[in-house]
Amino acid sequence: MSDTGRPNTPLRDIVIVGGGTAGWMTAALLSKLFTRGYHIRLIESDEIGTIGVGEATIPAIRTYLQLAGIDTVEMIKATQATFKLGIEFVDWRDLGTSYIHGFGKIGQDMLWLHPHQLWLKMAARGQVKHFDHYALNCLAARKNRYCPPDPRQPGSPLADLDYAFHFDASLFAAFLRRQSEARGVERIEGRILSAKQRSEDGFVDHVVLADGRAVVGDLFIDCSGIRGLLIGDVLGVGYEDWNHWLPCDRALAVPCESAAVLTPYTRSTARSNGWQWRIPLQHRIGNGRVYSSHHGSDEEAAESLLANLDGRPIGDPRPVRFRPGMRHRSWDKNVVAIGLSGGFLEPLESTSIHLIQTAILRLIALFPGRAFNPADIAEYNRQTAFEYRDVRDFIIAHYKVTDREDTSFWAYVKHMDIPDSLAERLDLFRASARFFLHGKAELFREESWVQVLIGQGLPMHYDPMVDMIPEAQVTGYLRDIEEVIADVAERMPLHSDFIARQCRAP
Ligand code: FAD
Repeated sequence: MSDTGRPNTPLRDIVIVGGGTAGWMTAALLSKLFTRGYHIRLIESDEIGTIGVGEATIPAIRTYLQLAGIDTVEMIKATQATFKLGIEFVDWRDLGTSYIHGFGKIGQDMLWLHPHQLWLKMAARGQVKHFDHYALNCLAARKNRYCPPDPRQPGSPLADLDYAFHFDASLFAAFLRRQSEARGVERIEGRILSAKQRSEDGFVDHVVLADGRAVVGDLFIDCSGIRGLLIGDVLGVGYEDWNHWLPCDRALAVPCESAAVLTPYTRSTARSNGWQWRIPLQHRIGNGRVYSSHHGSDEEAAESLLANLDGRPIGDPRPVRFRPGMRHRSWDKNVVAIGLSGGFLEPLESTSIHLIQTAILRLIALFPGRAFNPADIAEYNRQTAFEYRDVRDFIIAHYKVTDREDTSFWAYVKHMDIPDSLAERLDLFRASARFFLHGKAELFREESWVQVLIGQGLPMHYDPMVDMIPEAQVTGYLRDIEEVIADVAERMPLHSDFIARQCRAP
């Protein structure tokens, strides 16, 4: 008898609960890769709907699209997408400041020394430009330019340009639904009211819909959103709460009419008790205000959001409540929570869709065969927890490292205790701006940490090895990087022209 409850038969029936970005991303990839022997069904409820936000991505989304067999240009046109070279952070270090966390490389290493080390030394002498000038992604973003990376130009910064997308979340889910259904995924419309567990081991046997239908499965993928219908309500898996480190717990989202310039980056502007996002799409701009309910009212947040839009709002702001943190276990029994059902990290670095993608890939890597193996499940949960904590630390760093203390919110985050893992990392940076990977699954690498920590104003000593190099050589080296990047950025097409030529939505 196998653990699936079917004597000597392999796991066959996969039921995806929920049809938001998580549900349809899961359905699209599984239906592409599991070509034989599986029956994939997805249950969603039009009445409940989706969270309807989640429009900025990071470069790894391109790997997902490739694995899922999706044509990028087709996706861009279908979802009104634009290109994203990074995120601009405005007023985060202090009012009046701005920096870009770009996706690509920073300059060029000098021997074994990374360019930020040289820059830090010369910045202390006031002999360099803003750090954005030393990374093509950042400068191109500032100039509203975009073109695809060109691997035929090895050594040129253009070869290392990196990019992601902004897209309309509901159009993206609809696009993935079409792909999934074409590959045989069966969509079931209906509201799930309850689930029946097997008496012998507590595995979920079937879910029951409002009209009485029962949907039986071997494996249930809980993509039901923040509530966590199966993982939380049915299996009772608890939640590790990070609200003391990430005090924002609410958001208001409202699209507005497009502005003239199609910027190839997300903007995050710090506000009195949180921040505001701006995500440019072809047909509109997505905006939202993320805030702490302990440090201000919903009315103030709505007022500040609506007062800071580029164009006329389209509809009223939609409220969302969330709890930063993660499930103690994302995989429990025969239920795997993917998406918001598994945890929530505010969208400051656009990481949620990425966490959906890695969760699906991890599930595929540890997919149960004839039985659910506790070692596979434990490994899945270990990797998931590592990944969530890693991203969490990076997000906390944006709040902790700041000169701001102008409101109770900023005073709180600047002085709050932080996880040891982050404190140790910041100490290494302070001492000599060095970075070491804590694990190969780490999402944000040296370039990301360096850009954010320099941008946020962490006081850092440069690596003492820089002093081995004559100062004139360091200055000349940095000047060369800056000139090459400025030249390449100047020759790139405008982002809006590139879209008009290559992938304008109909
Ligand atoms: P949902 O979209 O909520 O989908 C849940 C699904 O479950 C729906 O189809 C619903 O109908 C179904 N369902 C629920 N209960 C039942 C039931 N009883 N019966 C039947 N069906 C049911 N991520 C990023 O990567 N980038 C961003 O820029 C970004 N911005 C964000 C901004 C905000 C304010 C928030 C809150 C999140 C943001 N995210 C972002 C996260 C992103 O929105 C989510 O990761 C993504 O949308 C996935 O959501 P989901 O599919 O898990 O849940």
